[in-house]
Amino acid sequence: MTFSVEKNGENQVSSLLTTMLGTDQFGSWINGQLVSGTGDNIDLVNAATGNVFMQYQDAGSVNVEHAAQAAVLAQREWFSMTATARGRTMYNCGAKVREAAEDLAKLECISAGKPLRDCRVEVAKVAEMFEYYAGWCDKMTGQVIPVPTSHLNYTRHEPFGVVVQITPWNAPVFTGGWQIAPAICAGNAVLLKPSELTPLSTTVLAKLLEEAGIPKGLVNVINGLGHTTGAAAIANKLCKKVIFVGSPKTGSLIAGAAAQRVIPCVLELGGKSANIIFDDANLDRAVVGAQAAIFAAAGQSCVSGSRLLVHKNVYQEVVERLASATDKIAVNLPWLEETMVGPVNNINQFNHIKALVAEAVAQGAKVAAGGGECNVLGGEGGYFYKPTVLADVANNMSVAQEEIFGPVVSVIPFDDEDHAIAIANDSRFGLAGAVWTADIGRAHRMAAQVNAGTFWVNSYKAINVMSPFGGFGESGYGRSSGYEGLLEYTQTKSVWIETAKDAAIQFGYSVE
Ligand code: NAD
Repeated sequence: MTFSVEKNGENQVSSLLTTMLGTDQFGSWINGQLVSGTGDNIDLVNAATGNVFMQYQDAGSVNVEHAAQAAVLAQREWFSMTATARGRTMYNCGAKVREAAEDLAKLECISAGKPLRDCRVEVAKVAEMFEYYAGWCDKMTGQVIPVPTSHLNYTRHEPFGVVVQITPWNAPVFTGGWQIAPAICAGNAVLLKPSELTPLSTTVLAKLLEEAGIPKGLVNVINGLGHTTGAAAIANKLCKKVIFVGSPKTGSLIAGAAAQRVIPCVLELGGKSANIIFDDANLDRAVVGAQAAIFAAAGQSCVSGSRLLVHKNVYQEVVERLASATDKIAVNLPWLEETMVGPVNNINQFNHIKALVAEAVAQGAKVAAGGGECNVLGGEGGYFYKPTVLADVANNMSVAQEEIFGPVVSVIPFDDEDHAIAIANDSRFGLAGAVWTADIGRAHRMAAQVNAGTFWVNSYKAINVMSPFGGFGESGYGRSSGYEGLLEYTQTKSVWIETAKDAAIQFGYSVE
């Protein structure tokens, strides 16, 4: 299929959905079928035009219950397969995603307003996630523990059963794959509620996984609002763990709802990451790194380097070089091949960015580049914001403390290493951070002292499914990706077997 976008991409969605879902109607994917919702109508908006291109109905609690019941049965079927067979099926899931990659990337591009080139990369990463966890299926070994009695004691990593996953709008298919792959690898079934704003690609992903051989009902995508469908999933007694990716405010509500039922949760929340440039850094690379850290995905990335801390000796030079490079970044329609920065996903986010920048300017920050909305040919009505550099920002301004989730970098000067660490850690968040320096000792000192779940040296945004990811502080708790992410989807059982023929049965604990 060629990617000719008539009417700004909107009618392309129907043809992509027809190809991938077999219909251009939309609802929830439950037990292998597309099911209509029962609640309010929800609009899907093209971020590049502001036009509504589709409506669907909120799934509602009855659909959540059907999904949970289907998930219980599918989980039994899945977990009764050999680990080898599950691994092979998961590998097929990766292959299926690769086959559908171009269509999936186009669907994501239009429905989430993300540049097509980014969507292609993210879809390829989804395939990798299934391939990586395919390899873990038959390697989830427990331990044999040398207890001091005549027992054989060993551990088993068992699935929870049905888990709930709730995801945000900024990287829907990536986040979906990121959480579905380890969940099913560990033997769980899934109820996934994507953001109501961007549900299409995750729903198609669930269908692709079934085409690759997972049982119907193992991965259900329940589409609807957070306080209705999302809350119903967390409250559903068949669901045993919650994995939430989103804002700290909602994360706190979700942790509270999970605590009411005494079920565990993982929170992957926001950030205000410090990207730190010392005066001994290779400034050519550091300035490009600073742009990549904040302007990719129009800043709508949890690990964005939204605070740029620069040593006072090179502060002026870095601001000037960054501002001049930023002025040259073209913002454009997301479906054009060359677009590197597209629109902001939604009107609320757009207004939030504008408000935080206006407040910073009122408090004394200087606009070195950008600083407002921009016009894009064919994107009239869209949510386009200029890549923006704010200089002379103080770390106590809201723009340096609140997550902006937009293409705006706040540049803050520092005097020395201790000062840089103090500013970096003067944040309620702790998701990521980076340092640019030629001093290897300093690089290690910074890596050890900055509060962050991920830290880069002379680099930014390197992530991979093989490596653990998660937050410190209000950026959340628990880990995703890698072996640690897999363990989040298991609970450990300790099994004791008496091996002595006539061992005395103790009233009380067996001791050495
Ligand atoms: P959000 O918190 O508004 O929504 C996230 C999800 O929660 C959505 O699916 C929403 O429908 C659901 N939800 C809302 N209220 C709910 C409720 N009462 N019960 C159940 N579910 C509910 O976040 P957002 O605006 O969609 O996403 C942006 C945020 O996500 C940013 O803070 C960003 O940093 C964060 N994020 C974090 C990571 C990470 O891995 N740490 C990755 C991507 C995005």
